[in-house]
Amino acid sequence: MDSVSLSSLVDQAKKAFSERFGGEPEVVTAAPGRVNLIGEHTDYNGGYVFPAAIDRYIVVAGRRSDAPSRLVSLEPGLGEAPAFAAADLHRREVQGWAAYAAGVAWVLQQEGFEGVPDVEAVVASNVPMGSGVSSSAALEMAFGKLYDALGRFQLSNKELALYGQRCENRFVGVNCGVMDQMASAMGVAGSAIFLDTLTLDLEPCPLPHGLDIVLCDTRKSRKLAGSEYNERRAQCEAAAQALGVGLLREANLEMLESAKGTLDPLVYRRAYHVITENARCLEFRSALKAGDTELCGWLLRDSHLTLRDDYEVSCRELNVMAEAANAAPGCIGARMTGAGFGGACVALVQAEALGDFVNKASAEYVKRAGREGAFLVCRAVDGARVVESNL
Ligand code: ADP
Ligand code: MG
Repeated sequence: MDSVSLSSLVDQAKKAFSERFGGEPEVVTAAPGRVNLIGEHTDYNGGYVFPAAIDRYIVVAGRRSDAPSRLVSLEPGLGEAPAFAAADLHRREVQGWAAYAAGVAWVLQQEGFEGVPDVEAVVASNVPMGSGVSSSAALEMAFGKLYDALGRFQLSNKELALYGQRCENRFVGVNCGVMDQMASAMGVAGSAIFLDTLTLDLEPCPLPHGLDIVLCDTRKSRKLAGSEYNERRAQCEAAAQALGVGLLREANLEMLESAKGTLDPLVYRRAYHVITENARCLEFRSALKAGDTELCGWLLRDSHLTLRDDYEVSCRELNVMAEAANAAPGCIGARMTGAGFGGACVALVQAEALGDFVNKASAEYVKRAGREGAFLVCRAVDGARVVESNL
């Protein structure tokens, strides 16, 4: 467990900024990572998701500059990115991590915003990369807030989230849904965010006092995720077509059961997960509002089971971690979170049992998985913002 401090990240970024570029940044922004409590593989089916922005941040200290843009990440192994000119960007042209920044500038230009500035900027972060807490969306939102402030575009965080998704889809080339950017942009302290990914309606739902979100990282890096992800998307489209709906979110279990005889059994199981997961997401919202943590726990565990057995996106390490977490003291419920094939589980845990929970779950995981996990205790926080400005 680590101590979390946004202000120390801000200090790190500002110090590195003056060492590298001289002087002070004009704007410092921060955007949180996120963890999805329930509603997995539903977003590209137009369904519901339930993420929370967490107290792990990407901080960007930046200043308007002459072309080209120069970006430095303090992440070990990343460092300074190849320079690019904001006014002369072409789709997929920027490679590496700077694509998440350049892509946001590119989308803003495509949207008709004039004068998207070149910048010199430093990135400091405590959002682990590739662990299922969406460092990429946090990076997009932190740069989105920077460009917005420097360009005085007055964009809402919701607009920035949509632009971030477009950046990732079209510029970086990752076919993600809108959940990650919406969570990072629209987070509310102490709440998880119920989001309808079709209408983009969202409703912050306070988490019960005395419960912590624990991210239980398997430390197994995600393999195969890209090709399997595209295959699942195609199977969902096939299911929707067979059921006569545009998106699986419009289907219900009754429709699925009556079509069972005509559906490919694999496509049936994929749709079974998505349809029941959407229903669980709605039930989770009601259970949270009613303070029914026991029901929340059941829903989390059921979610893991259909992800494991019907959607088949889990893996041995995720299953071992989910079982270890669910059996540990104070656990309300745990399940795999994120795309799958590695990454992390999310657990809701009674705060007073936190130490015991981590000890027991980590010991059990090492014993059965043969590797160390990592446990991150998270608080739900507000979404992307400007933290300092000299404009
Ligand atoms: P995640 O699940 O964490 O979003 P992705 O593969 O989508 O995983 O995004 C991770 C990528 O985001 C990294 O490979 C890197 O390009 C970029 N990134 C994340 N954090 C940082 C950082 N602190 N500095 C620079 N780039 C980062
Ligand atoms: Mg990502």
